[in-house]
Amino acid sequence: MAEAETRYGREPGSVRIMAVTKTVPPEKVNAAVAEGITLLGENRVQEYLSKKDQYDSSAEVHIIGHLQTNKVKYIINDVAMIQSVDSVKLAHEIDRLAEKNGRVMDVLLEVNIGGEDSKSGVSGNGLMELAGEVSKLKNLRIRGLMAIPPIGAEEALYAQMQELFEGLKAAELPNAQPDILSMGMSGDYETAIKYGSNLIRIGTGLFGARDYTRK
Ligand SMILES: *Cc1c(COP(=O)(O)O)cnc(C)c1O
Repeated sequence: MAEAETRYGREPGSVRIMAVTKTVPPEKVNAAVAEGITLLGENRVQEYLSKKDQYDSSAEVHIIGHLQTNKVKYIINDVAMIQSVDSVKLAHEIDRLAEKNGRVMDVLLEVNIGGEDSKSGVSGNGLMELAGEVSKLKNLRIRGLMAIPPIGAEEALYAQMQELFEGLKAAELPNAQPDILSMGMSGDYETAIKYGSNLIRIGTGLFGARDYTRK
């Protein structure tokens, strides 16, 4: 990560690393926190709820997986950010529960930059419309964008994400303070850093291959 910052003219220390914890047992997650990880990414609400009490509470937790509207209530008080906001309906539910709990929730808008059926997220063309609607909700604060470019995607898609992020900043929407571009995983974090990512989400690169058979 530090090498990529230098190579692509990014300010040293400007990219933050998240440890993605899906399928990883809490002891291993806590070992990563002990080594200096300050941010954890959770994909599945059910799995998170089963592990969270065992987590070292010094690390911040963000939701990064597709979030069903009816599950927001389980995580509203536990997480610092929801990176996977992809619909007005979901945003409204987060707003409602955030208000009820007396907090403001930081969110990222998820962009399906590769237009893949298998992935959630708003299209690049639909982003500013979604951002406009979400910016009306005063218990949410738009902090930026999240994307999962397709495996092997050409660099043009990363450049498009960077442009969308710049566009969001330039729009100066209410209830928005866009300063995070969450892009890049174990296989593509260097390319993501080249195109302005300042939050990379790493699972395999930290914990090794995932074991989906573990219960
Ligand atoms: C699993 C996952 C990652 C991490 O992927 P690795 O390739 O294991 O680094 C990052 N972001 C999201 C949204 C994921 O689901």
